[in-house]
Amino acid sequence: MMQSRPCGFDVFSNVSVLLDETGKWRMDLLNQNFTEAEAAAIKKLPHNTRRGGDRWAWSLTSHGGFSVKTAYHVIHSSNPRLSFDEEHSQLWKKIWRMKTLPSTKHFVWRVAKDILPTGEALKRRGVDIDGMCGMCGEEAETGIHAIIGCSSVHPFWSISGLTLVTEIDAEVGFKEWLIMAMAQWGSKDLELFAIAAQKVWERRNKARFGEGIGDISGLWERTMGVWHELNGDTRPRDEQWDKDECARWQPPSWRFLKLNVDASYKEGSTNRTGCIIRDYTGRCLAAQTKRYVMDTTVDIMEALAVFDGLEMATRMSISDIIVEGDSLRVFNLLNGKGTDNTRDANKVAHILAYDHVDFLDDISSSLVWLEDYPPLICNALRSDLLI
Ligand SMILES: [Zn+2]
Repeated sequence: MMQSRPCGFDVFSNVSVLLDETGKWRMDLLNQNFTEAEAAAIKKLPHNTRRGGDRWAWSLTSHGGFSVKTAYHVIHSSNPRLSFDEEHSQLWKKIWRMKTLPSTKHFVWRVAKDILPTGEALKRRGVDIDGMCGMCGEEAETGIHAIIGCSSVHPFWSISGLTLVTEIDAEVGFKEWLIMAMAQWGSKDLELFAIAAQKVWERRNKARFGEGIGDISGLWERTMGVWHELNGDTRPRDEQWDKDECARWQPPSWRFLKLNVDASYKEGSTNRTGCIIRDYTGRCLAAQTKRYVMDTTVDIMEALAVFDGLEMATRMSISDIIVEGDSLRVFNLLNGKGTDNTRDANKVAHILAYDHVDFLDDISSSLVWLEDYPPLICNALRSDLLI
């Protein structure tokens, strides 16, 4: 490090002005501009015979390269009054306040909470798999690896123009990385990142479930397309759905998610509730069916279905949700907080409550599918989306 600035050079002068054409120190300039001790110290520095260009160096690492971990600590120490808890609560607030689809907010929240079903997470939970990334086969599949770290997504993030998306550090998890990135980004950057991250994960899921590795070249364009659609004046998708006035299931506006609930009831037998949460495209975020062994009535079962559905939504931190079921009495009792509808509009929840499903054992009372759904509702889900 230079101890004093050489006179005659401004702050933007490069070290190269002190070197001759063979890359050796120009002693005349050193002696002229530095003290004797400084010139001697500089002279001891090895000169670069390859004459590469000057580059910016990150002063917090010994190698001069950027490190996410050190940057995170700088951000954290720059505001010492902010505890880790406060820092994290600000992170959640920023995620939920994003002007984007609820499913996108929810997705980013899940990555930050480290609850995505990545290879590494499944292995940690005792699933017998190697935990490696199926896209590159080079590293364990953690959340941060799947979204930005994988070599298969590097080209995509490089063209995005977002800062920090190609900078990861093995010691920093996604949450810490995102806190650091948010300190650099504006709200549009964060929203673009969230949409793109969700698309990267969907691409990974398709590959995982044998649907082939999707082309990544158009992914950023599609990300920008979604952002403009959500932030422009027009809402073409909403209009499209508004025109569909038949009795079948109606997707919610892009601003909300929709919860459909139903219950099966037969006196003296085990009854079940069924619920499903979908977004404005009809994509299933979660589905659940739960068993009840007790004497009950049809209205209580229908009310329990609403309760179970809302409880599932709460567990997933989903609040902007529309509730739909087919029990007029129960929904009237709920004081107009939900809508009752015909069986046709509610058939997926109906199947979840009625049709046979294999519970894992006799003790488990509920089955939950996240980002997935049981085969028995496939056809009903598809027909809900046919216009
Ligand atoms: Zn990978």
